[in-house]
Amino acid sequence: MFKINENYLKLPGSYLFSTVGRKEREYKSAHPDKKVIKLSIGDVTQPIAPTIIKAMHAAVDEMGNAATFHGYAPDLGYEFLRKAIADGDYKTRGVDIAIDEIFVSDGAKCDSSNIQEILGLDNRIAVGDPVYPVYVDSNVMAGRAGDYNSTTGTWSNVIYMPCKEENNFAPELPKEVPDIIYLCFPNNPTGATINKTELQKWVDYANEHKSLIIYDAAYEAYISDADVPHTIYECDGAKTCAIELKSFSKNAGFTGVRLGYTVIPKELECDGVKLNALWARRHGTKYNGAPYIVQRAGEAVYSEAGKAELKEQVAYYMKNAKVIKDGLKNAGYSVSGGVNAPYIWLKTIDGMTSWEFFDYVLENANVVGTPGSGFGPSGEGYFRLTAFGTYENTVEAIERMKKIIK
Ligand SMILES: *Cc1c(COP(=O)(O)O)cnc(C)c1O
Repeated sequence: MFKINENYLKLPGSYLFSTVGRKEREYKSAHPDKKVIKLSIGDVTQPIAPTIIKAMHAAVDEMGNAATFHGYAPDLGYEFLRKAIADGDYKTRGVDIAIDEIFVSDGAKCDSSNIQEILGLDNRIAVGDPVYPVYVDSNVMAGRAGDYNSTTGTWSNVIYMPCKEENNFAPELPKEVPDIIYLCFPNNPTGATINKTELQKWVDYANEHKSLIIYDAAYEAYISDADVPHTIYECDGAKTCAIELKSFSKNAGFTGVRLGYTVIPKELECDGVKLNALWARRHGTKYNGAPYIVQRAGEAVYSEAGKAELKEQVAYYMKNAKVIKDGLKNAGYSVSGGVNAPYIWLKTIDGMTSWEFFDYVLENANVVGTPGSGFGPSGEGYFRLTAFGTYENTVEAIERMKKIIK
């Protein structure tokens, strides 16, 4: 008789975005005359930049010609892309990453959920609270998280690092020592960042305790402050304790195109075993890599023209972020994030819960956001707005939100 993986039955069900979507639909059908503006989901809205489209077209044509056709891609990804990444994302920042330390993939969601496969089941993980749900859920599926407590909204074997107003919505070093630490900067959902000195403390802590840091840098392109590190490898000693995850989704609008990569330095070892070798083995067996056409698109991201176009795209979203942040702040809301990240994390008003505030904003301003409590218990009483909408809609949404605060 076959058995299922019973860990899946422990998952409480991802109601967050389905409930957000259902409430939005219900409101719209009851009020067909209202124009509802969505600043909830973390998906981009600007089209793929022209230089990247051109590179994709050229690659499509290559696939139609026997002389330039490409079949299975190399396990780790094409060298042209890994070289562009090593030069463009690391060498320019004074960081030396070899091309065989870079593993090209179809995105950071998959990598952030799959990476735990090469790690033992008896590892204890630590996550920020609130958090991108993928880190925890993938460990639940593997059987590493313990049991869910529906009253507290926490897992028995997970160490939570609360991100609250007192610590500027960034995690503090945990009191209990975790084996694996998930960090995400700039942060989704709070928009928080930490400077290099602070990140160095995490690296030192991990090296001291032989913990592994899984560093999600999906929003790196949104960093504008000079003291915020663009990669964890800017910190001394990070190569012996950290894996870095990157995505082309948010810097280049590849949420539909699909491309990402993971860096595993060769110095990163556990009892003499290189994690780089384990991940290479897994990649070789379980993964066919990103399409040639998409890897050529990724290469174009690092071209001079590509970089200039993407800088404009990021600036477009960050202009929205400023509209949201300044607008709400001036109206009397308590807001954070939105400076080095396309997310604004705002406190609900009048002591409302996240979901009460969601309903209040939907009904009175016809704006859809995301309830902070959906990202973890410490998100209760908060609300996330994204800068990924159009400029016109963002301006209108904030004008409306100004009117509903007393
Ligand atoms: C959007 C996002 C990613 C990127 O996911 P992709 O699979 O590359 O689209 C990774 N981490 C966080 C925290 C994100 O918000």
